[in-house]
Amino acid sequence: MPTSSFTQVSSVVPCPVVESLDAILPEEPLLMMGAGPVPIPAAVAKANTIVINHLGGAMVKVIGQVKTMARYVFQTNSKWVLGVAGPGSAAMEMAISNLAWEGTRVLSIRNGFFSGRMAEMGRRVGARVSTLDVDDRSVASLDQVADAIRRERPEIVTVVQGETSNTIWNHHLKGIAALAKAAGALVIVDAVCTLSTMPLEMDAWGIDAVITGGQKGLSSIPGVSLIAFSDAAWARVKARTAPNAHWCLDASLAENFWHNAGYHYTAPVSGVLALHEALRLVCAETLEKRFARHLKCSLALQEGIKALGLKLYAPEACRLNSVVGIEVPAGLSPADICGHISRHHQVEISGSFGLPIVRIGQMGEQCREHNLFRTLHALGRTMVGLGVPMDLPAGVAALEKSLSGSVRAAA
Ligand SMILES: *Cc1c(COP(=O)(O)O)cnc(C)c1O
Repeated sequence: MPTSSFTQVSSVVPCPVVESLDAILPEEPLLMMGAGPVPIPAAVAKANTIVINHLGGAMVKVIGQVKTMARYVFQTNSKWVLGVAGPGSAAMEMAISNLAWEGTRVLSIRNGFFSGRMAEMGRRVGARVSTLDVDDRSVASLDQVADAIRRERPEIVTVVQGETSNTIWNHHLKGIAALAKAAGALVIVDAVCTLSTMPLEMDAWGIDAVITGGQKGLSSIPGVSLIAFSDAAWARVKARTAPNAHWCLDASLAENFWHNAGYHYTAPVSGVLALHEALRLVCAETLEKRFARHLKCSLALQEGIKALGLKLYAPEACRLNSVVGIEVPAGLSPADICGHISRHHQVEISGSFGLPIVRIGQMGEQCREHNLFRTLHALGRTMVGLGVPMDLPAGVAALEKSLSGSVRAAA
């Protein structure tokens, strides 16, 4: 009988019973204070609910404005700004896979997990990758970089501005770019966590490709990213003979959508609209004020954490302000702390790929004074709850003093 055979076929994979999102998600949203994704402003959230024609006139206008605003945020006059459907790592892969191929000499300055990822991507496209391995809790000196460039004669140098994994800031970035340029190499910079949180001047520093994600400094949603190529980098993209094996990440194909109002793949329109709003808010604030806000908030948080009685992981000279690393007290694991603070205080913070630290982000909307007080209080109470004595009043007082004191005056 047709009905019974139909029943039999459809029962091979029975219709699943699942929970609704209301049942899965907490009633009160968690405060996202980890290493990303970060909280998004209401305008970004609203834009992310909208779907429009990806090839219509409104989209063309939006794309034009996204590029204009991105040029300001990257501090570049280069025409070659593009969006990427994908995480920050997709933008990274777009930079690497378009500029490097079989036999390309790549020097990767490896400070940790994310800068190591650029080296790995280089190997995967067949490049001859050498790494300058940097000791934990330190940065490559300009002498070390100059030596490595002399030795390896790279065509491309990759470097991360802020190594989110171990919270190290490559504060010699401008000098590294100058050394690479003097040696005729192109420079690719991972600015995923740092863009719009601290100065990065693509043109003035001579950087050839900058990548960023949406969900960190820009306070947009994860999954739509940005990349900018210099004219020299774009010339290399156009001069290559073998096509990029990554069709979706092929910059020449992406040019169709991002510069010629044509089709490459269906753009994540809602995410692009969200990114537009995030960039618009950066422009409304201005970079100067945004950098000052990030610096003030991060330094105050660091003061508060130290006054609680905890130790910061990175030495001051190369400490990243965009993500603050905190040493985990003996007897605890990062997971103990992250789990407790999430369950009891509805605050999310991060561990870090096996390092004995927890990390609190200071990117975009995370850098708001009310978020700092809630997070520091939750961190202190979490430690006490886990049996580690803390001076909670001293921590909160140090946070307030820093926010209302000399740093505020200077900002
Ligand atoms: C988060 C991050 C990445 C990876 O971004 P995804 O969006 O997770 O792919 C790369 N580099 C740095 C410095 C980061 O902070």
